[in-house]
Amino acid sequence: MKILVPVKRVIDYNVKPRVKADGTGVDLANVKMSMNPFDEIAVEEAIRLKEKGAATEIVAVSIGPAKAQETLRTALAMGADRAILVETDEEVEPLAVAKILKAIADEEQPGLVILGKQSISDDSNQTGQMLAALMGRPQGTFANTVEVDGDSVVVKREVDGGLQTVKLALPAIITTDLRLNEPRYASLPNIMKAKQKPLSVKTPGDYGVDIAPRLKTLKVAEPPVRQAGEKVADVAALVEKVKALGLA
Ligand code: AMP
Repeated sequence: MKILVPVKRVIDYNVKPRVKADGTGVDLANVKMSMNPFDEIAVEEAIRLKEKGAATEIVAVSIGPAKAQETLRTALAMGADRAILVETDEEVEPLAVAKILKAIADEEQPGLVILGKQSISDDSNQTGQMLAALMGRPQGTFANTVEVDGDSVVVKREVDGGLQTVKLALPAIITTDLRLNEPRYASLPNIMKAKQKPLSVKTPGDYGVDIAPRLKTLKVAEPPVRQAGEKVADVAALVEKVKALGLA
């Protein structure tokens, strides 16, 4: 079984994003970029399934600028077998990403597509669900545990207050939640080896997908600055303050 793993290049999760002065978006100039954390979990899960003998090949895909090749090389260094970059400098919305992924899946015929549950850049949480709908395949979103069982896959899903277990017929779409696994670090020898692994470069046009945006961002704003606190002498003074604020 082949596994397709879409990985997105986003601002590193340790970086505090800065909003552009004109409020049109987030400033990406000279900012450290990395693989979307949920996608690292997806790559790790694919590798574990391959190590268990449930998968034979892992193909990483990224849709984004030429620099997204670095993200794909990270996936290859972790253990993916080959990579596809669909190169564009445009912002690609989840629907267009899902359409491109569908076209790739039609060509590659993976048994599983494992995506992140959301990209921390746009917080859409849409691509996996849209891909499943476009492909007419079952989806197991917010996966906490994944077990391939013959021609189906059992997914424990993180739902409010617990876990829901579902069984999906393969081929299927899975999106990863935070507790699915802890991704490995790529070792130096594997980083070197990854440079030799195949990486093909395509364009959205090669898949016949129109990536023109369907929505327009009107404004991006920083969250309000937190007000300074105040120290009180004792509990009695605290109770007085709370009463005065009408909170008690
Ligand atoms: P989103 O729907 O944007 O929150 O993204 C959910 C998941 O879809 C991500 O975790 C990735 O696995 C995948 N994805 C979204 N955008 C891209 C992209 N440009 N390239 C590759 N994968 C993507």
